[in-house]
Amino acid sequence: MTHPEVVVVGAGIVGTATAWELALRGITTMLVDRGEVSGGTTGLGEGNVLCSDKDAGPELDLTVLGMGLYDELDERFGEVARIRRKGALIVHPDARTWDAEPARARRLRAAGVAAQLVDAPGVRALEPRLTGDVHGALHVPGDLQCDPRAITRALAADAANRGATVRTHAPVERVLVGSDGRAAGVRLAGGEEILAGAVVLAAGPWTGPLAESAGAPLPLEPRKGQLLRLRLDRPDERWLRHKIVDGSYLLSVSSAEAGAQVSTVVETTWDGHLVVGSTRERCGFDPAVDAALEAAVRERAARLVPATAPLERDDAWVGFRPWLPDHRPAIGASDRTPGLWLATGHEGAGIALGPITGRVIAGAIAGEPAPMDLSPFAPDRFAPG
Ligand SMILES: Cc1cc2nc3c(=O)[nH]c(=O)nc-3n(C[C@H](O)[C@H](O)[C@H](O)COP(=O)(O)OP(=O)(O)OC[C@H]3O[C@@H](n4cnc5c(N)ncnc54)[C@H](O)[C@@H]3O)c2cc1C
Repeated sequence: MTHPEVVVVGAGIVGTATAWELALRGITTMLVDRGEVSGGTTGLGEGNVLCSDKDAGPELDLTVLGMGLYDELDERFGEVARIRRKGALIVHPDARTWDAEPARARRLRAAGVAAQLVDAPGVRALEPRLTGDVHGALHVPGDLQCDPRAITRALAADAANRGATVRTHAPVERVLVGSDGRAAGVRLAGGEEILAGAVVLAAGPWTGPLAESAGAPLPLEPRKGQLLRLRLDRPDERWLRHKIVDGSYLLSVSSAEAGAQVSTVVETTWDGHLVVGSTRERCGFDPAVDAALEAAVRERAARLVPATAPLERDDAWVGFRPWLPDHRPAIGASDRTPGLWLATGHEGAGIALGPITGRVIAGAIAGEPAPMDLSPFAPDRFAPG
C-alpha cells in the first residue's frame, strides 16, 4: 500500500476540515477516528459561529477569517449545512458588564465586526420574548448558527470523493517517531502502523496523550459543558429570533476557575425547539448530567425569557470542550517534533474556528503563506523555557 502524505487523527470538525483542505490541494490524506465522523464534541454543542462572545485579539481575528469561510461552506453545501444568520444579542442584566460594553463594541468594530449597542426597549423590539430585566444588549447581526455534525459529515464525504481515505473505528494508540526525531505516522490499537510524511493531531479533548507520545506534550484538559433541550408544542424556528447570551458568559469563558460556572445562553434550534445552557467545569471526563446545574440553567434562562419556564424538558447532555490554560487553541507545526502538527484546544469556539483551522494547517503543509500571524497559537508555547 502507498503511504498517505499526511495522516490526520480525529474526525471532528477540526480534523475533518483539515483533511478536506488537504484533499482540495491534492495532498494524499488519511483521516482516522476511533469512532464515527463527528461522533465526539462536534455534534454536542449549539452550533454557533460567534464574534459577539469575543474581545479584540488573535482569536477574534481568526474568527473573523473563519466567518468568511462559512459563506463558502454555505455556497458549497447549501441547506445541508443549515446555516442561519440570525445574529446574537449579548444581553446585560448586570450594570457592571453593561458599563464595559461600549468599549468592547468599539474594539469589535475595529476588528471588522458589525456591532451595535441597543437599549432595553430596543432589545424587546428585536426579541419580544426577552422580557426579563436588562440594561441593554450588544447586537451582532452577522453571527450565525449551523449544523456542525452535518457540515463535518459533508466535508468528510467530499474529502473522500477527492481521494482522501476516511477510516472510522480505528483508535490511534500513539504517534510513531523515527530515529531522526520526526513524526513518521501512527500506530493503531491492535498494532497496525500507518506511515506518513506528516501527522496532524486533531483529537479534540483527547489529544493530550497522543501529543505526549510524540514528544510534544500539551497542558490540555476537558472543560465539561452541560446543555438542556426544551420542547415547544408547536416547533417554531423564530420563537426566539437571535442567539441570546448573558453578558456574564464572557467572564465565564475567560476564567480558569475549576468549579462549576453557569452563564445563560438560550436560542431556538433549526428544528424549532430550544437549547439552553451552559455550564463550564474542569473535572475530567465526567459524563454525568448534574441535576442541580440543570435547575440553575433553567432558572437563569427563565429570568431573561420567562416564557421558557413552563416548557417541557426534552433532553440534557454533556460534552467536553478542549481547553488550554491561556484560552487559545494550539494550531500549527511543533518545533519539538518535526512533521507533527497540532490542531486542538478550541474550547467553546471549535465550530467557529474548525474550518479556518483546517485551512491554515493545510495551507501551511502545502507551503502557502499564512493569512494572519499565527504565532499566538504556536503549539510549543507551553514548553518549559
Ligand atoms: C456544550 C458545548 C457547547 C458548545 N457550543 C459551541 C458553539 O456554539 N460554537 C462553537 O464554536 N463551539 C462550541 N463548542 C465547542 C466545540 O464543540 C468544540 O470546540 C469542537 O467541537 C472541537 O472539535 P474537534 O474536532 O477539535 O474535537 P471533536 O469533535 O471532539 O473530535 C475529536 C475526534 O477525535 C477522535 N479521537 C479521540 N481520540 C482518538 C484516538 N486516540 N484515535 C482516533 N480518534 C480519536 C474522537 O472520536 C473525535 O471524533 C461547544 C462545546 C460544548 C461541550
